[in-house]
Amino acid sequence: MEIRSTDAPYAVDESVYQQFDERRTIFMRRHWDTSATFYEKEYRDGAARRIAAAEPGYSRVEFAKLLASWTVHDCFDGAYSWRRLGQVDPAMMRLGPHEADDPGAMSTEVKRAASDFGADLVGICRVDPRWLYSHDRSGDPVRIPETARFAIVMGIAMDREAVLTSPAYASAAATGVGYSRMAFAIACMAQFLRNLRYEAIPMGNDTALSIPLAIDAGLGALGRNGLLVTPELGSCLRLCKVFTDLPLEPDRPIDFGLQESCRNCTRCAEACEGEAISASREPSYDAACASNSPGVIRWAVDADRCYDFWIRNTAACSNCIAACPYTRGATP
Ligand code: SF4
Ligand code: SF4
Repeated sequence: MEIRSTDAPYAVDESVYQQFDERRTIFMRRHWDTSATFYEKEYRDGAARRIAAAEPGYSRVEFAKLLASWTVHDCFDGAYSWRRLGQVDPAMMRLGPHEADDPGAMSTEVKRAASDFGADLVGICRVDPRWLYSHDRSGDPVRIPETARFAIVMGIAMDREAVLTSPAYASAAATGVGYSRMAFAIACMAQFLRNLRYEAIPMGNDTALSIPLAIDAGLGALGRNGLLVTPELGSCLRLCKVFTDLPLEPDRPIDFGLQESCRNCTRCAEACEGEAISASREPSYDAACASNSPGVIRWAVDADRCYDFWIRNTAACSNCIAACPYTRGATP
C-alpha cells in the first residue's frame, strides 16, 4: 500500500457545512426526538429476550462480559476531566513549568508517552474550529480556550478476532474494552501534559468530531462505512483526543487510495444488517439522516437505521468494521 501526504484529505462545502450539535447524536436524539423510531429506546433493552432464545454468540455469560468491558469507561469519572486529577505532586511543584522550545522533540516525547499509555496510533494536528461541536449534550455552547491550539489524537486498537464475530456480544465487548482503554490512555496523557505545566482538555466522543481530527493528524481517511480507516488497523479502533497549548509539530494528512478503494468496494454496505450504508458508487455532500451534517463529501451513514439494528441486535454492531478489507489486513 502506498501512503502519501496530502493537503486535501476531504472536501467541504463551506456554504452548507455547519458545526455539529452534540444533541443531534443518536444517543441524545433517543431522549428528545419523538419522531425517531428509537425514541426512548435503549439498545440493550431486549437482551433478556435474546439470551432466552439461546442463539450462539448471545449467552448470559457473554452479556455479563460485555457489560463488564465498559467498567473503566463508565466508572472512571475523572477520565475526561478538564481539570487536574488528584493533588499536584510537591516535587512537581518545585520543578516549575517545562521549557518546551523544540516542538519536534516534544512531539516525539508525546508520541512515546501515548504508546506507553496504551495508544496503538497517535498523530498531532492543529485544532480546526470547524470540527468543534457547536453545543454540547446539555445545550451549552462549546468553548475551547484559544491557547489550546494543538490536538493529540490517539487510536486504541480493538481485539480484531472478537470484532470479526460481529454482531455477536463478543464484538460488542471488544468495543467496551476499547472505550475503557481509551479512558485510561486519555487520562494519563492529560496528566502528563499538566505535569509539564501545560493545558490539557481530554475528550472521547464529546466536544469535537474525532474522525476529521484524526484525518488531520494523519491517522487515516474516511471510509464508506462512515468510520476512520487506517492503513495499520483498518477501522478496528476507537479514537480519543486531547487539546493542549503545548507547542507541537503537526503531522500531515495521508492519502492511501481509500476513496478509490471504496468506490469499487461495497463490502461494508453488504455486511450491514441495518441497510444503513450507501452502496452508490460516488460519495456526495448530502446527509442520510438527522444525525449527519451535510456539506462534506462522503458516503453518509444512516445512523437511524444503524441504531434500529442495534436495538434488534440488543448490542452494538461492528459488521462494517469486520467486513472492511483494511481491517482484515488486505487491501481490496
Ligand atoms: S454498525 Fe452495524 S448497523 Fe451500524 S452501519 Fe455499521 S454495519 Fe450497519
Ligand atoms: S469495506 Fe470497502 S467500501 Fe467499506 S470502508 Fe472498507 S474499503 Fe471502503
